[in-house]
Amino acid sequence: MTATDRIAAALGATGIPRLLGSHGPLVLMLHGLGGADGVDPGLFDATLDELRARRRVVPLAQAVAALGTPEARGLAAVTFDDGYVDFAEHALPALARRGLHATLFVPAGRLGETNVWDAGRAAERKLLDAAALRALDPAHVEIGAHGMTHCRLAGLAPHALCEETAGAKCALEDACGRAVRFFAYPYGQIGDFDAAAEAAVAAAGFAAACSTHFGRGSAPAERFRLRRVGIEAHDTLATVTRKLDGAYDWTAGKERLGAWARRGRET
Ligand SMILES: [Zn+2]
Repeated sequence: MTATDRIAAALGATGIPRLLGSHGPLVLMLHGLGGADGVDPGLFDATLDELRARRRVVPLAQAVAALGTPEARGLAAVTFDDGYVDFAEHALPALARRGLHATLFVPAGRLGETNVWDAGRAAERKLLDAAALRALDPAHVEIGAHGMTHCRLAGLAPHALCEETAGAKCALEDACGRAVRFFAYPYGQIGDFDAAAEAAVAAAGFAAACSTHFGRGSAPAERFRLRRVGIEAHDTLATVTRKLDGAYDWTAGKERLGAWARRGRET
């Protein structure tokens, strides 16, 4: 158990975070399922049930449409980043069994490849190819863009930024034969994308974009940097339920402080 988990456990035990609630839709974020460093498929199954017990789980488009309304506080959406083959194997059956929907963010220029951006840091995972993406049932999956090459967008030259956003949208729509309406920033922490990246995503015609900044709700002004609740391989059902109940919401402040300290060191 990390120090963060210990603080969250103590905070969760008070019941205060749950009482405070959140001001927007809860957007769940996952990556790979199964394998050495993926979330256990059984834990994902249980997470869906815990989520359903707390909120109405809707497609991301519906959660985004509700931003700023009182209804948004009671909604949740499920998202997966990177588009691994194990999404089709493990996540889709669990979603379909419950009649739920998820948005899958894939790097448009890496379909059918592996997570080369994680080389040396995480196990190799196979990404879905274009045919497999086309085969995903639209009743349960919306396909979103996760850049073209899965690079950090902060500080990119304008032409590269356009390729990673508008270029990714066009390429993915061509490959999948579906409209691509949502974007998730690769890495997605504060400092991994900037105002120019948000503007490029909006200009490319995306309806909203997800970050990995932690939080159970987003304000309407955060439409192009939606907060998410990340479920990680080291999570247990206890830590997942605490995350859903708000006992980790304070870690968003820790992330801001870390980004500020990094900036201080770099300048
Ligand atoms: Zn990613």
